[in-house]
Amino acid sequence: MARGERVHVCDLIQVCKEVAAVKIELASARRATVDVAIDLEFAPDKPTPGGVGKSVGELRVVERRSTRKPHVGVALTVSLGARDDCTPETIRRAGGTVARWLSTHQARRGSADVSALDSLDFDGAANAFCEGLALGAFRFDRHKTKRKPASGLTVDIVPGRQTRLTAAAVKRAAALAESVNLAREWGHEPPNVVNPVSLAARIVRLARASKLKCKVLDHRQLARMNANAILQVGVASKTPSRLIVLEYPGTTKARNAKPVVLVGKAITFDTGGYSLKDKNGIVGMKYDKCGGMAVIGALKAAAALKVKTPVVGIIAAAENMISGEAYRPNDIVKTMSGKTVEIISTDAEGRMVLADALTYAQKHYKARAVIDLATLTGGVVVALGSTRAGLFSNNDALADRLFASGERAHERLWRLPLDDEYLDLIKGDDSDLKNSGGRHAHPIIGGIFLKQFIEGKTPWAHLDIAGVGDTEKDLPYCPKGATGFGVRLLIDYLAGL
Ligand code: MN
Ligand code: ZN
Repeated sequence: MARGERVHVCDLIQVCKEVAAVKIELASARRATVDVAIDLEFAPDKPTPGGVGKSVGELRVVERRSTRKPHVGVALTVSLGARDDCTPETIRRAGGTVARWLSTHQARRGSADVSALDSLDFDGAANAFCEGLALGAFRFDRHKTKRKPASGLTVDIVPGRQTRLTAAAVKRAAALAESVNLAREWGHEPPNVVNPVSLAARIVRLARASKLKCKVLDHRQLARMNANAILQVGVASKTPSRLIVLEYPGTTKARNAKPVVLVGKAITFDTGGYSLKDKNGIVGMKYDKCGGMAVIGALKAAAALKVKTPVVGIIAAAENMISGEAYRPNDIVKTMSGKTVEIISTDAEGRMVLADALTYAQKHYKARAVIDLATLTGGVVVALGSTRAGLFSNNDALADRLFASGERAHERLWRLPLDDEYLDLIKGDDSDLKNSGGRHAHPIIGGIFLKQFIEGKTPWAHLDIAGVGDTEKDLPYCPKGATGFGVRLLIDYLAGL
């Protein structure tokens, strides 16, 4: 315990440090003293000598003065590809590429002329560039002994004549990216640093800094409310389960405005339990907490951006381990809802912790909608890969809104069915339900199981982010590892209410 404890303490000190590695400001004129002058350019129809290439994010670097500092006096031009194909995502990607160049070259001050974006016929182009910059600057090197010190990079955005970009919009893009980066950072943290108990402590500190209300329910309190599903999943861990509740009141003047309740799976490490994962499948299971991290990021962003709608975040944190006390296959667990579940696989633990979290959400809040995010099934990865997350819902209007938000944020979803027939696959023999139903319709079984814990007509959606919560390779504005998927999509949805 002592060793874990020490990590835990030193770790707390860093928690509330800004995680965004770049400061973005709106400038009125191009500065003379910048390290790097950045230009955005569309690829010409015909290749011109010295012109930027056709593919998005291609960089042309020109050194303007000879100097020993490689980043000083450089002109950097980034390609946006063909103008006709340009979308906000194109621009975000270009921003990400620029950020990566600036941070690897340890530039201190850049100045980006975004007037090329004036010729586009959609709104938000310059915002997308700011978002890409702030997201692309993320890196996770806290545990490296030889890490490069943060350069304190600032990028001035120089708008064109028609650019509709305000300083407030720049701040919003940066605040949103900072919340995504926090979700990424905590997602990256190893399981000997972030466990249910230390995660709860982090969230308490974050809540204080973000002026959110926070309640941590420990294992004793959970036992008193018969939250046996979340308790059993974490019973073999030396750091017992926690249910962490964050509340953001919203800026709406309307009395009794119903909150949107976000529920996140945060299995800080998933061994599979006695249904043990093999030595390859177990690596990377620190990312089994990414649904919870997205919820935390969304609450931080909602507060920073002063979203109108009240939002509640419920994070179900547990570590799925093995010991003499661990739960096992064939155990019958009585969930907080009263429904009983026979454990078929101890590796289907996410739906167990979510079952209790969903019951808690509906017992304590009259929700406008309940949305859960979870790295729930390998099956969704088989179905949709790492391009889209699975969307399940009992409410078409909610599903449509979330789908549209996913398109805008480029955190894309695809809806899968929840027909009653699927329930037959998990009807219990000696219990009400079983927690696993074999290989058929694998991601849908996760969804239909969760649906059994939704009461009445509560609008509910389940996002299975198992394929998108982390990435195995560097993406244009996200390095390998936790992606923070869900934060931008949820904020788009919340802001549209
Ligand atoms: Mn599992
Ligand atoms: Zn899991």
